[in-house]
Amino acid sequence: MRKPLVMGNWKLNGTKESVTALVNALKAPADKAAAKVDVAVCAPAVFIGMVEDLASGSKLQWGSEDCDVHTKGAFTGENSPTMLREFGCTYAIVGHSERREYHKESNECVAAKYKAAQENVLIPVLCVGESEAEFDAGRTMDIVRAELKAVIDLCGIESFKNAVIAYEPIWAIGTGKTATPEIAEKVHADIRAYLASFDADVAAGVRILYGGSCNAKTAPDLFKQPDIDGGLVGGASLKAPDFTAIIEAAE
Ligand code: PEP
Repeated sequence: MRKPLVMGNWKLNGTKESVTALVNALKAPADKAAAKVDVAVCAPAVFIGMVEDLASGSKLQWGSEDCDVHTKGAFTGENSPTMLREFGCTYAIVGHSERREYHKESNECVAAKYKAAQENVLIPVLCVGESEAEFDAGRTMDIVRAELKAVIDLCGIESFKNAVIAYEPIWAIGTGKTATPEIAEKVHADIRAYLASFDADVAAGVRILYGGSCNAKTAPDLFKQPDIDGGLVGGASLKAPDFTAIIEAAE
């Protein structure tokens, strides 16, 4: 039995004022949902300490939007998994398509971040997904399999016992074009089948979130699908009423 997870990804958004209001507004919905759904927000690193102060004592969990592969040293601008852990992060998103695109992160780089996160007691949220051209060419699973295989090669299939996967078709992120529940479910089931070719128990246990213009309207039908275990939510996670409705859809 997989417990759903609804996770916000704030990306490069927020002010001290908006973060305070948002976290305060999400504590009660997270507490209410806690028996059935895990709720988390992933914040820009500069706000993580604030989120820790605001959310401590509630069931709202938090994480980072990325993490470096190093724990310390001359790596200007990076945030290490040990630092993130010290500020109470439970999760670290790795391999978001925006980092793969704008920071040229390869599958191997993402796998190294996944490994560093796990070694430092963070739960990596591994983002995978195809571009629109790849979707149109029917290449979705070629892309997704390669993204998963890089992690399996470096960390082993067992590592997915302590990780989350987010299937995020790039053509659906921030575009308002949500994948239909049928399209999303097919890919989620294919991901699980691919992992099952290595280890059936691990495949059955890993949470696979859907991300890509998931909102209060689309979440209920997405979350009814048997292989969709919640959502990674960008834009709609910035407004407490919208994110609360998505949490409720997972309950
Ligand atoms: C995301 O950033 O992971 C995402 C899914 O964004 P959005 O919900 O805005 O499409």
